[in-house]
Amino acid sequence: MQKMNRLSVLNYVRRNPNVSRPTIAKNIGLSLPSLTNITQYLIKKNLLVENGTESVDRVGRKSTLLRFYHEAYRLICVYIKVNCINIAYTDLAGNIINLVSINLEKSDNKTIFETAVRNIASFLKQYNTDDILAISIAVSGIVLDDSKLVLSTSLKAKSIDIVSTLKKYTDIPVFLENVTLLRAVWCFSCNNNSLKQDNMIFIDLQDGIGACQFYKGEVNKFMLGEIGHTTVEKDGDRCFCGNKGCLEIMCSPERVMRIYKEISGVEYDVSLEYISDKYKSGEKFANIAVNECAEYLGIGLANIINICKPSVMVINVGNFAPLRPVIERAKDVMNKRAYSALLQDLIIQEVNVKIEQIIEGAAFHTCNKLFDISYPGGIIE
Ligand SMILES: [Zn+2]
Repeated sequence: MQKMNRLSVLNYVRRNPNVSRPTIAKNIGLSLPSLTNITQYLIKKNLLVENGTESVDRVGRKSTLLRFYHEAYRLICVYIKVNCINIAYTDLAGNIINLVSINLEKSDNKTIFETAVRNIASFLKQYNTDDILAISIAVSGIVLDDSKLVLSTSLKAKSIDIVSTLKKYTDIPVFLENVTLLRAVWCFSCNNNSLKQDNMIFIDLQDGIGACQFYKGEVNKFMLGEIGHTTVEKDGDRCFCGNKGCLEIMCSPERVMRIYKEISGVEYDVSLEYISDKYKSGEKFANIAVNECAEYLGIGLANIINICKPSVMVINVGNFAPLRPVIERAKDVMNKRAYSALLQDLIIQEVNVKIEQIIEGAAFHTCNKLFDISYPGGIIE
């Protein structure tokens, strides 16, 4: 019970920085004396810190404000991509103290994961590991049970257990997470935007297509969100997952490019921006290539809306950033295909989440795990 109350207070202050003791006590439902005991404990543990006094216009003593003391401990946040491994040393808010990027030449998945483990192990040697509470590893793909990468189309990998491998080098707890979820956490939990609705969907168009649902402010971990591997064409192109006609294969920028080259007959390499420009100038080949792929993307978006009835949909444009016409056309298709009643109050936003923001999301999400009552051990007794 005591541990649970301590965690509730800590997590409340993490989400509501610069808050007074009476406000915390009122919102959590604790008496002021027990709350004061708990904050004393958390301050001693270097998890909370006093941060000025409230600025209210009233007579009497102003309350001291508290905030999460994120500077007191450290995390290692890693993002493994097919051509690059990013390793960051951060505080608990994801503020980067040191970031190294290891560029990879064309590598197979075994080399990528071995390189990642080797580099994380040597990166750790620079630091006092007593301060480091966890290692968070982000990958694009399906992650089950917090630790096993089941499938990654972009990394061309199946059944990789990087967590067990890394545990041979360090005692620090390791968490593996789908990068789509971390982008969504940044978007809905860290980013200071006003999107505070009960049911929000994040669509990730970077390195395949994934979705993540936030229900009442928290990740819905029961929704896997692998819409990229739902079939939209029964005899469509072959996908790495083993199926044919998966959504992410049928609408990918690579397919837009391939179709454009096939029908226009251009022999030299063109860029996605080039195809976008040709589309805007009304060229028929660009029009066909864009519409062919946008149709599938629109179907995927409409399906999500019909299944989840979100009030907010945020699209991370990712690999489609240079192909704006595909996104615009896909939204038209979505508007035609989804139930109109579900579209009326739907708020749609676009973002392009950067590496620093993924790291911020990773830090926030890792703290959610470390400060969860179900987490064994940890620094709060
Ligand atoms: Zn697939």
